[in-house]
Amino acid sequence: MTDKAGKIKVLFASAEAAPFAKVGGLGDVAGALPASLLYNFADEIDIRTIMPFHAVIKAKNPPNKKIGDFSFQANTQQIDCELFISDIDGVPVYLVDNPYINHDSPVYHGDWQLDGLKYASFSLALLEAMRYLDWKIDILHANDWHTSLAVHALETIYKDDPFFEGVKTILSIHNLPYNGWGSQDAMNLLGFTASQDPDLPDWAKFTPLPMGIAAAHKVIAVSPGYSREILTPEYGCGIENYLQKHVGKIMGILNGIDEDRWDPAKDEAISHNFSVDQLSERVQNKLDLQKALDFEVDEKIPLLTIVTRLSEQKGVPSIFEALPQLIDRKWQFALLGSGNPELEQRASKLAEAHPDRIACFVQYDDVISHVLYASGDIFLMPSLYEPCGLSQMFAMKYGNLPVATATGGLADSICDYSTDPDIATGFLYTEKNTAGLVKSLSLALDTFENQEIWQLMQKNAMKTDFCWRTSAKKYLEVYKSLLRG
Ligand code: ADP
Repeated sequence: MTDKAGKIKVLFASAEAAPFAKVGGLGDVAGALPASLLYNFADEIDIRTIMPFHAVIKAKNPPNKKIGDFSFQANTQQIDCELFISDIDGVPVYLVDNPYINHDSPVYHGDWQLDGLKYASFSLALLEAMRYLDWKIDILHANDWHTSLAVHALETIYKDDPFFEGVKTILSIHNLPYNGWGSQDAMNLLGFTASQDPDLPDWAKFTPLPMGIAAAHKVIAVSPGYSREILTPEYGCGIENYLQKHVGKIMGILNGIDEDRWDPAKDEAISHNFSVDQLSERVQNKLDLQKALDFEVDEKIPLLTIVTRLSEQKGVPSIFEALPQLIDRKWQFALLGSGNPELEQRASKLAEAHPDRIACFVQYDDVISHVLYASGDIFLMPSLYEPCGLSQMFAMKYGNLPVATATGGLADSICDYSTDPDIATGFLYTEKNTAGLVKSLSLALDTFENQEIWQLMQKNAMKTDFCWRTSAKKYLEVYKSLLRG
C-alpha cells in the first residue's frame, strides 16, 4: 500500500496543532510529532496533518493556499467544504472549512451541540478530503474524541468503500474523560451509527471516544503509566472493562517536547539565556521577575511557579489550600493560568491578599509561560491525573524542578528525589491531596537550601532526554507493525 518510493502514508488528524491553534498539550504534540517523524524518517514516511480551519487560525493567517472545494452527503445533510494547505515545519497541513467549522469561535465552544457538529462533520470531512486529493492513505492517526469518529466511520460508513480499503487506524488518547459526550444529536444528524462492539457498555456505544477506541486497530495512551492507569476503575472512565479485555491493542508512548522551541539557551522570550554549562546566568531571570512583580528581590527566596489550565484535574485547589499552610516559610509564588471561572477568582483573591509574594496572571500567554519556566525554582503540578503532561518537561528543561503527583506521565518523566538525589529531577508524591502537596513542597523547600544538591538536580533535569525523536521512532514502529499486519 505504501507509495512508489515505499513511504508509509500517514494522515495525522487533530483538533489543534501548534503554532496554528493550541489549547493544551494536544496542540504541542500535533505540532511537533509529525514534524519529528518527517525530519528524522523522511525516507520512510510521508506524513501530513489535517485540522479544522478555526477562526483563531484565520486571524493569524499563516501562509496558506486554497486547494479546492468538495461536498459530500452525510445522512440528509450535504456538507460543502473548502480545503486549504499550509505547513508546520515542513509537514503539509490541510485546513478544512465547512459551515459547522466556520464560526467566529474558539477551538472548543464548550457548547456540546456546536462542538459535536464541528467535530463530527470534521471527522467525515477529513476522510472525504483524502478522496478529493486522491491521496490513498495507509494509516489514519486520530487524536482524542474530536477525530475519533473518523476511525469509527472507516469501520462503518466507509467499510466497503474501495478508496479506504486496508487503511489501518491509530487513536491516541491524550485525555480519556473528555469523551465527546453530548455529540449524540450531531451524530444522529450526520448519520453515524452506534458501535456494535458488545464489550462496550451501552452508554459508550454512541459516545465518540469509546466508539473510536472500539474501532481502532491500535490505541496509544500518551504515557506508559497512563496506559496502565486507564485499565483501572479510578482512571478508566467507565470503559476500564473494555480496555482490560482489549489490552493487547493498547500501549503507551511518552510524548516528547520540541527542544528547539523550548531551549533556554536561545529562548527569545526570557531576559537571560542559560544552559547546563552556564547555569549561573539562570538566576538573573528570577531577579528580573521579582523586580517586575514588586516582590522582595533576593535569589535565596525560592520562587514557586505554575503554568496551567485552571481545572480540577490539575489539582489547582490543593495549591490554594497548601500555600496558606506554608505561609510562615519563605517563598514567592507566580501563577499563569485560565479556565474555570471559580478557580480564576480564587487565584486573583489569593494574589490580592498577598501582593508582596503572590502574583497571578489569569490569562493565556505564551511569553509569560516561558518567563515563568525560566525564572521559577519550583514548578507545581499537583494533578489528580495526568495522561502525559508537558509542562513538567518544559519546567525541567529550564531547570525549574517539579513538585508533582506520582501519576501517569508525571511519574514516567520525573525522577523522584527520594529514589536517589544524585540522579533526581524533581519531587513526586502519592497522596493526591493538600496534605500530600504540603509535605512534598516542604521537602522541596528544605532541599532548595542545599544549593549543591539543588544545582545537581537542576542539571539532571536539564539534561534529561525529552526529544521527540525517541518517541517518534516508537510511533514509526507502530505504523510499520500495523502494516505488516
Ligand atoms: P494539558 O494538555 O492537560 O493542558 P500539558 O501539560 O500537557 O497539559 O500541556 C499544557 C500546555 O499548555 C503547555 O505547553 C503549557 O505551557 C501550556 N499552557 C497552559 N496554560 C497556559 C497559559 N495560561 N498560558 C500559556 N500557556 C499555557
